[in-house]
Amino acid sequence: MDSVVEQIVAPALYVVATPIGNLSDISQRALHILRGVDLIDAEDTRHSSRLLDHYGIGTSMISLHEHNEQQRSEELIERLQQGISIALISDAGTPLISDPGYLLVSQVRKAGFRIIPIPGACAVITALSAAGLPTDHFLFVGFSPSKSGPRKKFFQRYSQQAETLVFYESPKRLQASLRGLIEVIGGDRPVAIARELTKMHETILQQPVAELLESLQADPVQFRGEIVVLVGGVSRQEVSGLDEKMEQLLALLINELPVTRAAQVVAQISDVPKRQVYQRALALQEIRDQS
Ligand code: SAM
Repeated sequence: MDSVVEQIVAPALYVVATPIGNLSDISQRALHILRGVDLIDAEDTRHSSRLLDHYGIGTSMISLHEHNEQQRSEELIERLQQGISIALISDAGTPLISDPGYLLVSQVRKAGFRIIPIPGACAVITALSAAGLPTDHFLFVGFSPSKSGPRKKFFQRYSQQAETLVFYESPKRLQASLRGLIEVIGGDRPVAIARELTKMHETILQQPVAELLESLQADPVQFRGEIVVLVGGVSRQEVSGLDEKMEQLLALLINELPVTRAAQVVAQISDVPKRQVYQRALALQEIRDQS
């Protein structure tokens, strides 16, 4: 580990994570960078001045938000061409994660400048670290859609996956979302809500979704604040119909036989329909080829 105070690189764009609630959740390195760069690019300069004032940082700021990102990106690339160092921050957490910055980062990369990430708080990861749902594979899908029709389709689309599903939710929609979720996946699947993380009223609850909804309704305060929802995935057996041993056998056989033949053998000894085993074999093949 290298903890020597680093020189600020110029030209470069630093992508700096800031706290998601508790102002102490910012690294020494992030503070050093924010103090040392020529310019800070903030989603909302008034909002970020609270953080900067708290740490006595007087670096000049300009705003970069979803409505001016294209124009700002062009201006900022010109500033990088002049040789300055810039830090990008958002209102909370890691920029680009359901926050502006993607356009800027992709264009700065295309223009050939160095981009240096300064890691820190992020609500998805903070929620996963404490919710008690599997974290080996998860799927983060940003905010759930605000209208009920698209939201139902959204739940249907992700209802059969084995990974933990994580999404950001508005407190106004949480109740409707949990009801919609129950309609699609039933009431038994474990679901967690992580609310007001790192703040005074932090609450992290995990229960079968129907019980969770009842617990929340009994304490309406829980429908306020900032919220991350995490939905446990379906078990592997529910997805493919195969138990763990059969899955292992199928994973081995696809290395030795054509996929159709491997699926045929496993279907014969497991009593699971061949078509279903074949689909699983294809998925396993894809996972194998990606790793
Ligand atoms: N960039 C941020 C990050 O790294 O997590 C996310 C920004 S997104 C615009 C804001 C949403 O993130 C909130 O509506 C909420 O769903 C979630 N979030 C942010 N801070 C949170 C917190 N302290 N507790 C729970 N959820 C939070």
